[in-house]
Amino acid sequence: MVVIVGAGPVGLMVALELTRRGTKPVVLETLATPNRLPKANGIVGRAVPMLHERGLYEPLTGKKQPRPAPRFMYGGFPLDLRRLADNPVHLLPVPQRRLEAVLAQHAEAAGVEIRHAHTVNGITQTPDTVTVDVEGPTGPYTMRATHLVGADGAHSSVRKAVGITFDGTSADDVVTRSGHLVLPPRDLTRVTGRLRGPGGPYRPYLFHCTPKGVFSFARFSGAGPHLVTTLEWGQEVDDTVPMTVGELRDSLTRVLGRPVLAAAPPPAEGPHVLRRGTSRQNRIASTYRAGRILLAGDAAHVVAGFGGPLLNLGLLDAIDLAARITTDDVDGYDQARRPHADNVLAAAKEQEALLRPGQETDQRRKEFAAYLATETGLRRVANTIAGG
Ligand SMILES: Cc1cc2nc3c(=O)[nH]c(=O)nc-3n(C[C@H](O)[C@H](O)[C@H](O)COP(=O)(O)OP(=O)(O)OC[C@H]3O[C@@H](n4cnc5c(N)ncnc54)[C@H](O)[C@@H]3O)c2cc1C
Repeated sequence: MVVIVGAGPVGLMVALELTRRGTKPVVLETLATPNRLPKANGIVGRAVPMLHERGLYEPLTGKKQPRPAPRFMYGGFPLDLRRLADNPVHLLPVPQRRLEAVLAQHAEAAGVEIRHAHTVNGITQTPDTVTVDVEGPTGPYTMRATHLVGADGAHSSVRKAVGITFDGTSADDVVTRSGHLVLPPRDLTRVTGRLRGPGGPYRPYLFHCTPKGVFSFARFSGAGPHLVTTLEWGQEVDDTVPMTVGELRDSLTRVLGRPVLAAAPPPAEGPHVLRRGTSRQNRIASTYRAGRILLAGDAAHVVAGFGGPLLNLGLLDAIDLAARITTDDVDGYDQARRPHADNVLAAAKEQEALLRPGQETDQRRKEFAAYLATETGLRRVANTIAGG
């Protein structure tokens, strides 16, 4: 039997893929009920057509078939992907909660047992078996598995239990703030919804650099509030002070260069995002495999990316890993999947260098704009976004 720790999108995708290949796993999830906090707003990349091949695109979107995205962004540049005959970039705009609900529904319909309120708190293995200690609602018990998949997120207890280190860096010189705000209609242009400001008006769904930092704003839920994100470098912040809507509004005002009288959205329409991050984590597990224990998704890598690359990366890990477990080929998993995490990390660093305010960035952006104007440049960036 295969045991999967974590019923997030990646654990559920591993479960579905295993089932498709004739192996029914058990999924253990510590939460009693699904997490309601908003996380991802969509999937970007090659995972989208792969979900379609598995009959999951229509239940997620209500649309028959994914089409390549005509536009996307990279490093604050709008990309016209229609210039590429074989555009590989696909988008699937879906809130993570809904993605998890649809994956769980399909997994259960296929016979996967998802045990909620079951926490893994110990793991040992021999060359033949993994023994898993679980705390369930009625007390502790033990399971034996041929393989154990740690899809238990960035703070993975599976990774820690087997002593796999999470190597990388945390950038502490940038403060990221993100939250839902109701932007005053007079601050937005009427037809295209651009945000007025010095150097603007600014388009939604793009990162914009100004002399003071970076901001983006986008509406992911119809007529609801905008999700506003700001990045500011070289700020001292007291992390013990809770984040407020006022703090986000002040940050947007500083970065945009003019006051924005944005308000908090009605609490009843929430839960809403409101968070501050004082370190951007870029970490990849030192190995994705320890014997019969394998890591996938955020348990294997976290990247402070731009444009939402992590679900794509994690879902593609899941598809590869399930195929390897069912064909007894887990040896090659790390080697196959690590380069993709390395690419996502390299793209995050490249984009940060294109966004960080400063004179060097101005020159770098000029050169990058010329590169993107070439077909080679645009294709390379599109392939980076699509991932693999
Ligand atoms: C605010 C925010 C916005 C984001 N936006 C995007 C975006 O737009 N696009 C994108 O691609 N990515 C985005 N991400 C990243 C994306 O949410 C993650 O990459 C994704 O959740 C990873 O899925 P996962 O299944 O690997 O891990 P998780 O979603 O973290 O799931 C892990 C699961 O394991 C469970 N678990 C943990 N420990 C145990 C244990 N010991 N026993 C049993 N269960 C356990 C947890 O409860 C959890 O349900 C965003 C993240 C955040 C926080």
